[in-house]
Amino acid sequence: MAETPDLAAHGTHGVLYVVATPIGNLDDLSGRARTVLREVDTVLAEDTRRTRTLFDRHAIPTPTRAFHQHNEHEETPRVIARLLEGKRFALVSDAGTPLVSDPGYVLVREAHSHHVPVHCVPGPSAVTAALSVSGLPTDRFAFEGFLPPRRSRRQRVLEALATETRTMVFYEAPHRIEDALADLCAVFGDDREAVIARELTKRFESVSAGRLDHLLVQVRVDRIPARGEIVVVVRGSAPTTADEDTTDAMLHAMLDEGVAVRQATAVAARLTGRSRNVLYRRALALVAARAEE
Ligand code: SAM
Repeated sequence: MAETPDLAAHGTHGVLYVVATPIGNLDDLSGRARTVLREVDTVLAEDTRRTRTLFDRHAIPTPTRAFHQHNEHEETPRVIARLLEGKRFALVSDAGTPLVSDPGYVLVREAHSHHVPVHCVPGPSAVTAALSVSGLPTDRFAFEGFLPPRRSRRQRVLEALATETRTMVFYEAPHRIEDALADLCAVFGDDREAVIARELTKRFESVSAGRLDHLLVQVRVDRIPARGEIVVVVRGSAPTTADEDTTDAMLHAMLDEGVAVRQATAVAARLTGRSRNVLYRRALALVAARAEE
């Protein structure tokens, strides 16, 4: 099997390695990552002190330079100039794979546009780690990164995802997990299956699976601690073929039978996989139109 050429093969050409590092357990650094990190001229690190802890564990003496979201634009031209002089750089983030909800996008794009070779040294990432233990379908998935911190924007983002049929993966901050779960329940329905993966590869790792409303209760009573690093994996919506006319017909039929708007909405959301909030607004519009007739 042919392998990606490593340092010696690049001779005088600069090269940028994008290197994945552990998401908790420092022993999860691959052998190739260690070799590359030892042999490049400089390691660009999101937080040089954190990277130094990893380097101390693996006896990596390479100098580090701060490269994070606040200086990425300013640093990139400097790094590109040095790559064009033939220097070899590795990019790492605090944890996991750079560019996955982490800095590096600007640099990698610029490297491509200057024809600097960019190689990956793959390894851990919280998104794949959480999926691998979720027990939810992984053949197709949508990585959504962090949800917006503000409730109104978060709900809008979730509503746009209400009919997403692929498994969804969200990163979430511990102080927002309760609010995010409450919004997931409101928009996706209480009974949607989900998994909360906490502190993966670390001492207090936990993987909790269940309905969204049950997970929310467990967070509220501290059975699932709202602490540490968290990934939420949510089952996609059941595929639906219901178009708007079919959904309207469903709502009309239930309203004709005297079913309350909220209940009609919940049933229609379940049958069609469409957003409960969207259907609720639609049901109110239908009720208003019927009143005018
Ligand atoms: N680049 C990283 C990756 O490849 O996963 C992600 C960086 S992002 C700034 C940090 C978020 O990733 C955390 O807030 C959490 O949602 C998730 N995360 C990172 N490490 C984790 C772990 N050990 N267990 C669970 N989630 C983790």
